[in-house]
Amino acid sequence: MSIGHHEHNSTKHNNRQPLSLPEGLVIRTILNNSEDTIYFKNLESKFILNSKAHAIQQHESNPADMVGKDDFDYFPYSFAKAAYDDEQRIIQTGKPMIGHVEKWVQSDGAITWFLASKYPLLDEEGNIIGTWGTSKDITDLKVAQEQLTLLNKQLQEANQRLEFLSMRDGLSGLFNHRHFYESLNMALAQISRRRHAPDKNVFTILLLDIDHFKVINDSYGHLVGDIVIRTIGETLKNTTRITDTCFRYGGDEFAIILPDTPLDAGQHVADTLRKLIATTPIETESLTFHIHVSFGVASSQEAKSATELVELADQRLYQSKAEGRNRVK
Ligand code: GH3
Ligand code: MG
Repeated sequence: MSIGHHEHNSTKHNNRQPLSLPEGLVIRTILNNSEDTIYFKNLESKFILNSKAHAIQQHESNPADMVGKDDFDYFPYSFAKAAYDDEQRIIQTGKPMIGHVEKWVQSDGAITWFLASKYPLLDEEGNIIGTWGTSKDITDLKVAQEQLTLLNKQLQEANQRLEFLSMRDGLSGLFNHRHFYESLNMALAQISRRRHAPDKNVFTILLLDIDHFKVINDSYGHLVGDIVIRTIGETLKNTTRITDTCFRYGGDEFAIILPDTPLDAGQHVADTLRKLIATTPIETESLTFHIHVSFGVASSQEAKSATELVELADQRLYQSKAEGRNRVK
């Protein structure tokens, strides 16, 4: 063998590859090796020819043993009937059925999912003499899809929970400081969008701070202090309107946003809350005592920004404290 010949050996070899294959070889290769089930049926939906995978699926030792049988011999009645109806429709219309998802529930409850396609089977003259089809087991894919759907749902729930937590104060369950400023900026943005109607969307904020709260902590302990914070939170929430929003601003300080409320109406709400808190006893397992709170109230008409508005309410709260506490300014 010459070197040159040797060098071109692979090319020569490729050139010697056949450009056609015997049909019998092709059919045997496909029927014996395809992972998908392949079948040919007559006009009565009886099997004429089946792939090896089909025989294995139905626990037949030889595909030839399936000839003359039909889906009613292998599948539950409803499954076989649906397949039979599909095939009769294909025979009548000549139209194939592509990518049909089918669910097979076995007698032991095991579920197998198929992706099936069926076509009319034509003779040399083009007459329909039956049907043929392929069917792929997509159970693993389906299970993975279901798991993915479940995981997505869990993720969605976790995200909702996270969103909820990011806005809340853990002790009182009220909205937190961050959400207070978000809400305030949102409310102010709504007003600035309606500059031509300055009386629309007027809102009022209440800032309130527990009077002498340090004394409660020092006398009864921080756990009792925590109960006080929770109780005040509940009172604010239960007493205000559903459209009002209550926040724990931080420490022993709370805030309320009252939409569509001018200053005097806001002060009135604050005074009602003040009286209620002052007259409702705080009750723990071993103690009963009274507390009171001071308020600073400011209206959106009095300020241009969130910080300006909070500063104004804070000044008035400070004034309430300075004038003896348990009052509204
Ligand atoms: P004033 O009437 O001037 O408001 O007096 P005060 O004693 O209430 O003083 P201030 O509002 O400045 O003190 C708030 C105290 O609240 C200080 C802090 O130890 C306490 N505190 C803040 N957060 C918590 C909490 O989550 N739980 C408890 N138990 N106490 C808290
Ligand atoms: Mg205080």
